[in-house]
Amino acid sequence: MTTNKKATEGEGLKKLFIDELKDIYWAEKTMVKSIPKMSKKATDDSLIEALNTHLRETENHVERIEEIFKLLSMKPLAKKCPAMAGLVEEAEEIMAETEEGVIRDAGIISAAQKIEHYEIASYGTLKAFANKLNLDRVADLLDETLDEEKNADKTLTEIAESSMTEEAMSIEDSSEASPRGRSRGSL
Ligand code: ZN
Ligand code: FE
Ligand code: FE
Repeated sequence: MTTNKKATEGEGLKKLFIDELKDIYWAEKTMVKSIPKMSKKATDDSLIEALNTHLRETENHVERIEEIFKLLSMKPLAKKCPAMAGLVEEAEEIMAETEEGVIRDAGIISAAQKIEHYEIASYGTLKAFANKLNLDRVADLLDETLDEEKNADKTLTEIAESSMTEEAMSIEDSSEASPRGRSRGSL
């Protein structure tokens, strides 16, 4: 029967929503531990500031998820997110394999942006699910976090563009050195 099928689908979506909520809860709690490690290894002042600002926001993201669990009359529960675990592992690898300074900063930005994009995708989906499930207040809370993740990503792009200049990275313009230099110089 159609009504029963719809009820089952609603339950399925709710279950999927809660599973993904547990996943992002684990991811955010992991970031609270990981961001300080990145900011400690960074040298650019604006990058350090951006990471520290986002750490405070991330602590808020954890609390927002706890509020969502409360709205759903559930205890907050974290489930390991293999994707975030991998992204954090990659960030640590990049920091270990680069020389301190502008290059490691660039690596930190690249790793941090991959993390932000994962979070943006997760919160976008969670918000859409919450809307489908008519959980208006929950959707609003998810949207607040989504906005902060998008802003963090934008800030990182701006820092990359202003601080990671060719000069700072000692990249010489080789376009005049050889006739084939044009293509090489495009990096
Ligand atoms: Zn977050
Ligand atoms: Fe995940
Ligand atoms: Fe984030």
